[in-house]
Amino acid sequence: MPRLDFPVSVEQTYFRKGFGLRGEIQGALTDDYHSAVVDEVRARGYAVTVGGLTIRLAQEFGFCYGVDRAVEYAYETRTKFPGKRIHLVGEIIHNPHVNAKLADMGIAIIARSTSGDFDFSHVTADDVVILPAFGVTREDFGRLRAIGAVLVDTTCGSVLNVWKRVESYARDGFTAVIHGKYQHEETKATASQVSQHAAGRYLVVRDMAEARLVCDFIERGEGADELRRRFASAASTGFDPARDLERVGIANQTTMLSSESLAIAAEIRRAVTARHGAAALAEHFRSFDTICSATQDRQDAVLRLLKDSVDVVVVVGGYNSSNTNHLAALCAERVPTYHVQDAGCIVPETGTIRHKPVGTQQETAVAGWLAPAARVVGVTAGASTPNNKVGEAISRIFATRGLDLAAALAPGAPVSENRVS
Ligand code: SF4
Repeated sequence: MPRLDFPVSVEQTYFRKGFGLRGEIQGALTDDYHSAVVDEVRARGYAVTVGGLTIRLAQEFGFCYGVDRAVEYAYETRTKFPGKRIHLVGEIIHNPHVNAKLADMGIAIIARSTSGDFDFSHVTADDVVILPAFGVTREDFGRLRAIGAVLVDTTCGSVLNVWKRVESYARDGFTAVIHGKYQHEETKATASQVSQHAAGRYLVVRDMAEARLVCDFIERGEGADELRRRFASAASTGFDPARDLERVGIANQTTMLSSESLAIAAEIRRAVTARHGAAALAEHFRSFDTICSATQDRQDAVLRLLKDSVDVVVVVGGYNSSNTNHLAALCAERVPTYHVQDAGCIVPETGTIRHKPVGTQQETAVAGWLAPAARVVGVTAGASTPNNKVGEAISRIFATRGLDLAAALAPGAPVSENRVS
């Protein structure tokens, strides 16, 4: 075969740094997600009062840096490849409004088959595939690379940091104990990172109750069978408590409740210390808080909001959004809380709200949710909720009281109807 003496052009098939088309998509992003109401409420110090009803907005809410980037990158991808079929592995983020917008742009969501795996059978080398903000498993990445499609990877940098941490645990012979939901895309992708090493292991614990089972075994060797049974779907294949809980490294899904993640790490550390002694702790235990700063900021902001004597809180965000569910759980411990998937769940005409009560999986409708005595409503939104849905929710809450926010905020509206707290 003759030697090639000229540079060979290799077509790039993997992108993860954007296409530099922000200027071209900015108008569409503004049309699809911007909210003048939110801008106005922010400008007024995150609180607005109309007709005796005050709405306080958490000072950190809605789209995080990772979601901003992923959504922008998806819009850029449509612009960059106008004639190509574009697929998205699952949902770009957990918000139905955003996913519907992408579908309207001709970006097709790849669903899971009955086996639970993503069905890539109709993806070809001529296609473009967008990987979501929470990433995909190493196995799915390998399957897509084998197909040869162009991959646009929007995995958030904070998720990549967790992957690095978990990979280092596996490399050094520590089992990654991940505080997360094992069915969640991000946690599946994170757990799969241990497969970079032949002896890599993981275990996913959902909450403190599950962490205590792990601690009981570490400390006293109790409950091996229960552990195997309980974590059959949430641990690496062939998980053996005696072998795999000798050395553990703690990580977490980026969107978990920060206080719970820290408490779980402390509990496991305590158990390892009891078992091996403080002097040997470093040989048996590693920990790194991998809650992302955006999740932490939203949880901190909602806790500050709750200090302001709010009567009721409305949390806006996808029912399958982990960080939104945790915001709702934080609020529900203190005040009546309504987690709505979309602003349309608030129906002023009937005075009802459709919401998912904390800890349940089902939406339910409640009439008369905004009691006449309620004077302050707190509002927050998960990291995957666009501002227009937050603004719409605020308007609908006022409308439930028969108050017209747009009229009250209009230039020249009477000050008494437009007080800023
Ligand atoms: S919630 Fe955190 S990890 Fe997830 S996309 Fe946003 S910034 Fe990234």
